[in-house]
Amino acid sequence: GTGTTTWVYDFSQGNRDQKDLLGGKGANLAEMTNLGLPVPPGFTITTDACRFYLEHGSTPPDLADQVTEHLTALEKAMGKTLGDPSDPLLVSVRSGAAASMPGMMETVLNVGLNDESVQGLAAQSGSDRFAWDSYRRLIQMFGKTVLDIDGEAFEEALDDAKREQGTDLDLDLDADHLRDVVGRFKEIVRAHTGRDFPQDPREQMDLAINAVFDSWNSPRAILYRRRERIPPDAGTAVNVCSMVFGNLGADSGTGVAFTRDPGSGAQGLYGDYLQNAQGEDVVAGIRNTVPLADLERIDRGAYDELLATMARLESHYRDLCDIEFTVERGKLWMLQTRVGKRTAAAAFVIATQLVDEGLIDMDEAVRRVSGDQLAQLMFPRFVSGGDATQLTQGMNASPGAAVGRAVFSSEAAVEWAQRGEKVVLVRRETNPDDLSGMIAAEGVLTSRGGKTSHAAVVARGMGKTCVCGAEELQVDTKAKRFTAPDGTVVSEGDVVSIDGSTGRVWLGEVPVEDSAVVRYFEGEIDPESADADDLVRSVHRILTHADAQRRLDVRTNADTPEDSARARRFGARGIGLCRTEHMFLGDRRQLVEKLILAEGDADRQAALDALEPLQKQDFLEIFEAMDGLPVTVRLLDPPLHEFLPDLTELSVRVAVAEAQGESDEGTLRLLAAVRRMHESNPMLGLRGVRLGLVVPGLFAMQVRAIAEAACERRAAGGDPRPEIMIPLVGAVQELEAIREESERVLADVSAAKGVEVDALIGTMIEVPRAALTADQIAQSAEFFSFGTNDLTQMTWGFSRDDVEAAFFHAYLDKGIFGVSPFESLDRPGVGRLVEIAVERGRSARPGLKLGVCGEHGGDPESVHFFHEVGLDYVSCSPFRVPVARLEAGRAAL
Ligand code: ADP
Ligand code: MG
Ligand code: MG
Repeated sequence: GTGTTTWVYDFSQGNRDQKDLLGGKGANLAEMTNLGLPVPPGFTITTDACRFYLEHGSTPPDLADQVTEHLTALEKAMGKTLGDPSDPLLVSVRSGAAASMPGMMETVLNVGLNDESVQGLAAQSGSDRFAWDSYRRLIQMFGKTVLDIDGEAFEEALDDAKREQGTDLDLDLDADHLRDVVGRFKEIVRAHTGRDFPQDPREQMDLAINAVFDSWNSPRAILYRRRERIPPDAGTAVNVCSMVFGNLGADSGTGVAFTRDPGSGAQGLYGDYLQNAQGEDVVAGIRNTVPLADLERIDRGAYDELLATMARLESHYRDLCDIEFTVERGKLWMLQTRVGKRTAAAAFVIATQLVDEGLIDMDEAVRRVSGDQLAQLMFPRFVSGGDATQLTQGMNASPGAAVGRAVFSSEAAVEWAQRGEKVVLVRRETNPDDLSGMIAAEGVLTSRGGKTSHAAVVARGMGKTCVCGAEELQVDTKAKRFTAPDGTVVSEGDVVSIDGSTGRVWLGEVPVEDSAVVRYFEGEIDPESADADDLVRSVHRILTHADAQRRLDVRTNADTPEDSARARRFGARGIGLCRTEHMFLGDRRQLVEKLILAEGDADRQAALDALEPLQKQDFLEIFEAMDGLPVTVRLLDPPLHEFLPDLTELSVRVAVAEAQGESDEGTLRLLAAVRRMHESNPMLGLRGVRLGLVVPGLFAMQVRAIAEAACERRAAGGDPRPEIMIPLVGAVQELEAIREESERVLADVSAAKGVEVDALIGTMIEVPRAALTADQIAQSAEFFSFGTNDLTQMTWGFSRDDVEAAFFHAYLDKGIFGVSPFESLDRPGVGRLVEIAVERGRSARPGLKLGVCGEHGGDPESVHFFHEVGLDYVSCSPFRVPVARLEAGRAAL
């Protein structure tokens, strides 16, 4: 009728595009159902219902009726009723949010079993053991997730039962033992909750549904969302799915699989299978799984059908899929699929494979990879050798090279990391409670579980190095140590190195080398040659396509010839920011001191004259490295006192000297100057253009050095393209004054050398006032370069050097922002100022060249923004150049 909301959808009613409403799991179960794949029937309760529940603290009033309607239909279709004593329908109640949150929320299996229906299940299946095993699983999962009982209590009771039978295998427990375990479990429930385990099947189901809703706000789910930037109010759907049983005996089992290798992208069969098992048994690492390929031997029919289904899913989704399946007495059932997580390397390789298979085009391939993934591929790799000793080799679960001190618990990982130590988290297996430790660690090492174990899946998602299933290691988390096969004992705090690409584990620190992708960017690997592997070839193809699509130019921030040359090899088309401050450091500090202490014009000029040839030499080399490409030189920006000694230190030095009767004139003058120049707020003080206006001849000297270097390069047949950039301008008058002076110097040098020097003169836009008066400033500026670091600092009033330590973590915790505005551009605030400046600047000077040179120039999200507002280029550090090229290409698609 009118005004009613549909809270529940049958699996046959949805499709994969309805993730927001049905959650990822529900949408894909629906998609598979409609593809005609063997999915156990069921229905999905929407995320709308969850949001209602979270907001009101109770389910929507009409939800129960809608659930009843769908349950009745399900019962009819299955020919069984929920919890029927003689032949029960059983269901699973499964969480499933729009964004994948593996293992973060709750699922309860075997709902509908009770003291009576367990008998019915036994009779129908012909297996007492199976029925009692299913019942004990229900009480265990229900107790833990619905009734909030510590899972340890059940684990211990189960361990006790096994110990009494002299075994440590679940499978050695027979029906009688399991009936006994059920008794103990029910006792635990009574002791912890003061009531009996609920016998009413519908009550079980309803409680489980609410528990799934509640699990949205479990601490680990909250932490995971924050880390993955998943909105906190999206809510989860709940899937009610009729049970199929992998624990019916040796002809049954359960497994997980990928349609390609999620580690490398290689084609083939990847997965784990466990006979006579249910649900989480595979990923929990409790028993050792067999490789999926073994299923061919175990059950040829199920195996063939599985392979055909996987191929079908891949071509349907046009991407790598991961799946959960169960074999019940030889019959294959699909329990889940989704486009699978993969490593950065696999993402590139798979994208181009799919192009070659005709499933996607190159535009789509570029969309399927990200700048963050490319950045990961540029991390260094281990070099063999060194004096570290290899301890063992586990499985290469998530690539990368991690070196750190071994820690054995999530808490320890967090604690050590907070002290600034790099750590490797070592566990027998991880579970969702280890998330904070995994985040804090450089890498994760486990002794159990395969490539689909919790550790492996979560580490890959986070781009964190992981070696799993290193079975030769005896991990003793209580004693905080592990023992290698050769008897070596590694204790908490010992340095280990783990290689997520090969699975190798060493004691000690292994040296690292450039990755193949970096060597390709360096020109050391020809992507067309036999030296290039699939990954290098894919990166080359994808970047070539991105370059052809992008509208943004990419420049680099570099102030040495080496960095300039490297950035150029990495694809930079010029320098967007050449800082000149480092040119005032080192040996030259003394000259700067002379400049500051100068008592008259002659003194000052002498100091400047001494600095100039040194500056010129710097520019010569940089112009040469960037021959034919623009080089934007920023005139001196930081406060001059940064080049002087620290006030306290110097005061102490003077006091000591005086006490010994040794104080000298020079030191005293220096101290006076330091005192005079001391500022309480140096970042808002005498710096940038203000220095140029206050210290006579300083900027003129820098411009002269630029002009003379350009003349000399030209005389030598080069093609220098200097651009002079004035920092921290807030008013056009500031810029005009410096511009006049600079033009005079350029003209002087041109006349003196008889060579025309062309240099654009422009400004940084990094003070909010400059953005707001950009139309005026543009009258005097041939280009703008947004200094988004300072612009962010001044727009928010955040001191960039202090906020990280002072309060950003609290801001991030409280969700005031999801990511630091210094990392990713704050669009509504700082971004709005950029937009205003672009619009006003171009209105005054249509050809105005616009770029950005803050850290944001290499941040993927921000690059998209700069594309959208119509900048001409982004500039970033040399290592971010390929990332910016890729993201600029993606932004243009
Ligand atoms: P997660 O999101 O943590 O993977 P799932 O809802 O997929 O949780 O379920 C947990 C486990 O139980 C998985 O191994 C899944 O395949 C299995 N499972 C879920 N529903 C059923 C069912 N109806 N029959 C058999 N196994 C199921
Ligand atoms: Mg699952
Ligand atoms: Mg600045």
